[in-house]
Amino acid sequence: MRAYSDTVAPVRNWAGNITFSAATIAYPETIEQLQAIVQAAQKVRVLGFGHSFNRIADTPDTLVSLRNLQRRIEIDSDARTVTIDGGASYADIAPALHAAGFALANVASLPNITIAGAVVTATHGSGDSNRNLAAAVRGLRLVTASGDIVSLSRGDADFAGAVVSLGALGVIAEMTLDLVPTFDIRQTVYLNLPVATVIDNIHTLTARAYSVSHFTRWQGDSVDQVWVKALAEDGEPAADILGALPATAASHPIPGMDGSTCTGQFGVAGPWHERLFHFSIGNAASAGAELQSELFVARADAPAAIAALHAVQDQFSPALFVSEIRSVAADDLWLSSACRQDTIGFHFTWKPDWDTTIAAVGVAERALAPFAPRPHWAKLFTLAPDVVRSRYPRMPEFKALADRMDPEGKFRNDFVTDLLFA
Ligand SMILES: Cc1cc2nc3c(=O)[nH]c(=O)nc-3n(C[C@H](O)[C@H](O)[C@H](O)COP(=O)(O)OP(=O)(O)OC[C@H]3O[C@@H](n4cnc5c(N)ncnc54)[C@H](O)[C@@H]3O)c2cc1C
Repeated sequence: MRAYSDTVAPVRNWAGNITFSAATIAYPETIEQLQAIVQAAQKVRVLGFGHSFNRIADTPDTLVSLRNLQRRIEIDSDARTVTIDGGASYADIAPALHAAGFALANVASLPNITIAGAVVTATHGSGDSNRNLAAAVRGLRLVTASGDIVSLSRGDADFAGAVVSLGALGVIAEMTLDLVPTFDIRQTVYLNLPVATVIDNIHTLTARAYSVSHFTRWQGDSVDQVWVKALAEDGEPAADILGALPATAASHPIPGMDGSTCTGQFGVAGPWHERLFHFSIGNAASAGAELQSELFVARADAPAAIAALHAVQDQFSPALFVSEIRSVAADDLWLSSACRQDTIGFHFTWKPDWDTTIAAVGVAERALAPFAPRPHWAKLFTLAPDVVRSRYPRMPEFKALADRMDPEGKFRNDFVTDLLFA
């Protein structure tokens, strides 16, 4: 294994819509090598598993991949924490946590993303009481611009600003995450709920189980699928929800795709890491050739926001594979999409045609404009930077923190500079 690669074949993101412009990709095998690489570089960004859809991970200089770091999964049963390395993925740690009697409170739709990449972009799952995945972070060890390591723990003055960082403060070398006792989930997919019923009942629908996702192609007057992930201890799944009946074949969020790549359904109880992801460990996620965007609005606005999208659905649904509506609980992380507000997220998986997608993203943004949406940091959006900045009450403090921790802007790329600092 190499610590460095001087010549770089074009490296692309998972979706294939971004070719990274890095002159060098470095593969440190130790934290000490990582420190030396960061210290020597002019500009640095980390490449996780490349599942972001915009240029957030890009840099013209040094891209660092932590995939060759020794995986670290150190469970502290008394403190109920796990300490992991900055290159670990959810797939790497979830089975080991379950085997030790523990769980993460929530996860995203897929296991094959790095935890650090998820944390710095405010990646989320679903559930009225489930916060963004970054909210599980109890401590961070960052390699800063000088190559030195800074440790931050929950309760420290800068901590709430340093977790969802867009990678602009340093390289996460290690993280400590909160754990909960392991638990079982029953997942049941219900089909064809009228949009009018969803609008009238969205708050009771999202509250009816531990994690609920609504999948719709925004065609006609019904929501295609409602994925209900209930705590197994709460008993057998309901025979119907508001008249919608359970699917009898394994469902995939994108109708017509193979549901056997997804986590266990039909209300059969199974461990959290075999139910909370939509796509199971070891299987391909989603469509693959696709683009994604997502907007978050205050949960109280959910009925009006769904109605607003429904009213213009014919303008964007031809570009869609599928869309997902999820709830996320508020947190206090400065750049979290759920900072200080319980939210509803409107996710869109688009067919991989750039121009059509960007036009459709704009339609959704304009429809939700009255609700002041925040965009997902890792997905596509056309909202102007000053508009995005205005949606984050703690943005000035974040910029001051970034100026203090990285005065030369070593960890800023064009995406971060244009969005946050221009
Ligand atoms: C099929 C699919 C499903 C998805 N599902 C969801 C979902 O359910 N919910 C959701 O919210 N999002 C979802 N996403 C978006 C995804 O969670 C984010 O793009 C996430 O950042 C991907 O992690 P990654 O390891 O691929 O990070 P990358 O895309 O490689 O990097 C993302 C950012 O993290 C930074 N970074 C990575 N590691 C470090 C580190 N160690 N230190 C500092 N910075 C670092 C990178 O520099 C970059 O800025 C999905 C994406 C895909 C493709």
